[in-house]
Amino acid sequence: MKPPFPAPIDFAQALAILLRVAEERRLAAERVPLQRAFGRVMAADLVAGSSLPAFDNAAMDGFAVCGLPVPAQGWALVGEQFAGADRGLRLQPGQCVRITTGAPVPMGTEAVLIKENAREQDGRVLTDAGPSPGANIRRAGEDLRPGQRVLSAGQVLTPARIGLAAALGEAELEVARRPTVAIFTTGDELRPPGQALAPGELHDSNRPLLQALLQAEGLEPVAWPSLPDEPAVLAAALADAAAAFDLVVTCGGVSAGEKDHLPALLLEHGRMHFWKVRMKPGMPVLLGGWNRALVLGLPGNPVSVLATFITLGRPLLDALQGRAEPRPAWTALLAAPVSKRHGRREFLRGRLRTDGRGRLLVEPDPVTGSHRLAAAAHADVLIDLPEGEGEFPEGASVPCLPCAPGRG
Ligand code: AMP
Ligand code: MG
Repeated sequence: MKPPFPAPIDFAQALAILLRVAEERRLAAERVPLQRAFGRVMAADLVAGSSLPAFDNAAMDGFAVCGLPVPAQGWALVGEQFAGADRGLRLQPGQCVRITTGAPVPMGTEAVLIKENAREQDGRVLTDAGPSPGANIRRAGEDLRPGQRVLSAGQVLTPARIGLAAALGEAELEVARRPTVAIFTTGDELRPPGQALAPGELHDSNRPLLQALLQAEGLEPVAWPSLPDEPAVLAAALADAAAAFDLVVTCGGVSAGEKDHLPALLLEHGRMHFWKVRMKPGMPVLLGGWNRALVLGLPGNPVSVLATFITLGRPLLDALQGRAEPRPAWTALLAAPVSKRHGRREFLRGRLRTDGRGRLLVEPDPVTGSHRLAAAAHADVLIDLPEGEGEFPEGASVPCLPCAPGRG
């Protein structure tokens, strides 16, 4: 028997439920080597154990000089200190040593004279452009001091942050474990791309779409071949996946049709956290559970998959990993008016551009059908329009969520 169709809940309510559920299922921490840390979420603070730079050093190639202003006959060249082992040199007034970028400056160094401004003559170094005191010396600890917090739990590891950890000598970082994710697409009408279609069939576009969306999050999803609309087959596949994965993302079969079996299965054998959200596209979306796994049930229409994954799937993955840094969002000015004739929160596709005055504009896509993947394929963002009917004039400020990861 089909379960009664519940009243849809607000998008904000759905998001709150999803975040609470994810918080309860927060993934454990693990230590990973830096070369596997990109995109991971820090699970603990990182505190500097040493200074950066660790010692006073030359910012340029040239000469470490002692004695300013420039002595009348220049400085006597008494040695060299290159990047590498500190030779423990000491400079007396009137002396200099040849030095390279990053080399420890000898004791007594007052400045580094850059090579381009120096002339060598009979063992002496002369210049017409004497450096000011302290010039071209990078001071120990000016970037970081021991005890300073460098990275915080909940921050995402970007390339520069990974480099910073390495600069401090950390070979591993404590990060949240990545969720393991299984993907099921469902529908008797689906055939894999590459196969010929019989009348009434279509290619399974959501499977690779979802794989790519998850790959963009740094995950390696395992995708089942598309499943038929058979409750027993769906139940068996869910039971299998739930035993081995943190999250099962399904698509299709969550609506009110004769062949939409997933809600009934979850209500009977698993859990249902929410089903149906006042959003467009993607209203039939559900969040449930089956044994130890969470089940995110996305609707079958491809544009709904994109919108529900970006607006609910990604926050779920972030929360499971304890990500505290918000995703970047843009505010742009509508390049054309939008007339919203329904009460649901809407995530309308749009393309960004700047106008001649450097303002960020978003061109709303007039095509709104949730099957219109060809139109959505060129969107940069989802324009986030609030609940309630409304007129949004040209020039209105609207929040925009990037929806084309990989395009930069
Ligand atoms: P459903 O949510 O199962 O009712 O599907 C809604 C619409 O999305 C139907 O037109 C389906 O044929 C289509 N659809 C469902 N799953 C996929 C898929 N994996 N790839 C492409 N289209 C799909
Ligand atoms: Mg279906």
